[in-house]
Amino acid sequence: MKVKQHIPKALRYTVLDFHKEFPNDDACLDHLMEQRWPGRITQCAKCGIERKHYRIKSRTAYSCDHCGTQIYPLAGTIFEKTTTPLKTWFYAMYLMGSTRCGISAKQIQRETGVTYKTAWRMFRQIRSILSEGDLQLEGPTVEVDEMYHGGVRKGRTGRPMRGDKKKIPVMAIVQRKGKVVAKVIAEVDSYTLTGMIKKHVTPGSTVYTDELSSYNRIAFLRDSKDKPLAYRHRTIKHSDGVYVRGDIHTNSVEGFWSLVKSGIRGVYHSVSPEYLQSYLDEYTFRYNRRFEGNQQFRSILVRSVERAS
Ligand SMILES: [Zn+2]
Repeated sequence: MKVKQHIPKALRYTVLDFHKEFPNDDACLDHLMEQRWPGRITQCAKCGIERKHYRIKSRTAYSCDHCGTQIYPLAGTIFEKTTTPLKTWFYAMYLMGSTRCGISAKQIQRETGVTYKTAWRMFRQIRSILSEGDLQLEGPTVEVDEMYHGGVRKGRTGRPMRGDKKKIPVMAIVQRKGKVVAKVIAEVDSYTLTGMIKKHVTPGSTVYTDELSSYNRIAFLRDSKDKPLAYRHRTIKHSDGVYVRGDIHTNSVEGFWSLVKSGIRGVYHSVSPEYLQSYLDEYTFRYNRRFEGNQQFRSILVRSVERAS
């Protein structure tokens, strides 16, 4: 199943638009400042009231119009200690928001001249602000599936060979025509899988899964106050060779997996276990904004100051 690719005109934001809006580092800094403190107005520590702030030339600081006390819009953001030009960061975020399958550090190295190591670090930092947290999927229909990253797989189910230590289980829940939650999980057992469902799926939803026995209790799950969650559970019997029977399918979640797998295989080549969740966050972030066209870049920009510590 393909994720919608056509971008309506109003949502198009080309690389030319990008360079026009952000011609240099100053424009990028002003944008972050404006986003963090609209109108450049914020509490001045010394004056004790809200004051307007003005840019200090050739520094990444702005000063209070009354007493001159300085504030730093990059403080606590992923850009704080960087020596890489802000425009390069913005371009990296633009690329990440414009691609469908992922973007390699090699490409930004080629296009901007930063070293591979710098490019790789930049992407890692950007991914770190893309997590969707404890997103609640509103139903009414969700598909749940698990897969394994790495390790040796067996047959068409993709389940790993027993005892393969390199395998990492991953679980995804996709709301049909909606959003996705994808997480690295500790075990493919009933406790873990149903725990994720309880956490992310709205009570009363219909839940489609494959026939893995760990899902057997879905219809009987209760919340922490022992109230029934009233999920309706539908199972797809892959072992019968039956993959689609009317509404009974897991095409949406499989579409998400194929996006992740082709990206990791084709763009990133391989992903080590410690970074797997951050790559899932990247794919999830884009998938959940797939109807925004390449305005996704703006969502990443917003995150970059929202997630300032
Ligand atoms: Zn002041």
